[in-house]
Amino acid sequence: MPDQRIRQTRTDGTSPSKEAKPRSASRTNWNDKAQVAEYQRQYRRLHIERLTAQRAIWYRANRDTLLANEQKAHAANPEIKRSRARAVYASDKERILANNRKWAAANRTAILAKKKEYRERHKEELAEAKKAWRAEHPALVYGQTVRSRARYPEKHRIYKANHYARVRGAEGHWTLEDIKALARAQKDLCAGCGEDIRDSFTIDHVIAVTKGGSNWPTNLQLLCNCCNSTKNNATPEVWTLRKAQINAKKVK
Ligand SMILES: [Zn+2]
Repeated sequence: MPDQRIRQTRTDGTSPSKEAKPRSASRTNWNDKAQVAEYQRQYRRLHIERLTAQRAIWYRANRDTLLANEQKAHAANPEIKRSRARAVYASDKERILANNRKWAAANRTAILAKKKEYRERHKEELAEAKKAWRAEHPALVYGQTVRSRARYPEKHRIYKANHYARVRGAEGHWTLEDIKALARAQKDLCAGCGEDIRDSFTIDHVIAVTKGGSNWPTNLQLLCNCCNSTKNNATPEVWTLRKAQINAKKVK
């Protein structure tokens, strides 16, 4: 292991041979403040690992008291702590931000869980605050909507479809995952005619929402565009008849 003292003095630009040796206790004039300070500095440098370990043990043993004291002092004078924190941050911004990013990356799962837990605990307040904010900033909301539609067209379509059902009083909702599962279950074939629907399909309510059907995935089927337009809001029975008629016409 390289010698800590030699490295230290060399970065100072001084000769290692002169400064490398620690000041011995016997050669220190204990009445000279500068010499005492130098002795203490060298002592700390030499025993840094042991001292750090000791401090960690001491901190763990006294943690609750220390934190309580800190909280008390902070409550008594919140501005002092804030201005100190601001000064520290301003003086060492790059390093602090890098450390924060490193910590966030290492603790990602825990952070997400904590955020989720917070959102759930404050669900109603957050919804109220969001509603109020949206009411106060219509222009920003409009801009957000336009940008988000352009960026997540699929998400927007799903939102619109669920909204359509909701305003018609249908119970239930579904996600993109539900649709993907449905496509797998139907083997990417139209539920009406068996056409390949990998390129394009429509999401259909087996029992139409306007006829009391729910908006849960169990009431959904994927149809080709053609089947969807012939089915419209027909019940499964009526649609079966209609399909038979269309096929009979095709045969003629
Ligand atoms: Zn079809």
